[in-house]
Amino acid sequence: MEKKKLSADEKHKRRIALREEKKLALKQLKEKEEKLQYKKDEKYMGQALKLAGKAAALGEVPIGCLIVYDDKVIARGYNRRITDQSTLSHAEIIAIKKASKKLGDWRLEHCTMYVTLEPCQMCAGAIVQARIPRCVIGCMNPKAGCAGSIINILDMKEFNHRVKITRGILEKECSYLLKDFFGRLRKVNKEAKTSTES
Ligand SMILES: [Zn+2]
Repeated sequence: MEKKKLSADEKHKRRIALREEKKLALKQLKEKEEKLQYKKDEKYMGQALKLAGKAAALGEVPIGCLIVYDDKVIARGYNRRITDQSTLSHAEIIAIKKASKKLGDWRLEHCTMYVTLEPCQMCAGAIVQARIPRCVIGCMNPKAGCAGSIINILDMKEFNHRVKITRGILEKECSYLLKDFFGRLRKVNKEAKTSTES
């Protein structure tokens, strides 16, 4: 009787140990996947930053965007509002247009968007309309962002599509690019003002 009780106890202990082992293995797998995803996110955000640099070279506010499908970049865009004299020429809209053309579908399901700055109301609306499932954001835009700063158009329960958001990928680099751009712009404006005054 004593022996049987002990073996049942042992069985119970073993079951618990196995369960714990399985839990730990799953946790480790999840952490590994998250790490891999984070590395991938950083890689693509780095490419979006380079696109933002192209906008800066044109004298545009440096914002870059790309869309990834099946682990491949299928569309790129950067802010060209002044160059095109069009309010529609935001990085995200340009990339969405190109991605839809490439896939031959207005729905961008299974795609991930990477954008260096939190999307505005127009772009956030387009991301929802295009049914993009995931959006990775570099830095936030407290004054105009519509993915959590002022409003979160990407994730509203009232809409038929909600976007998964990842924030803060290469955040420092993304915000530095903007700060540097606006700093230089202020300097140029100040110099222009001084030269007209003198
Ligand atoms: Zn926008």
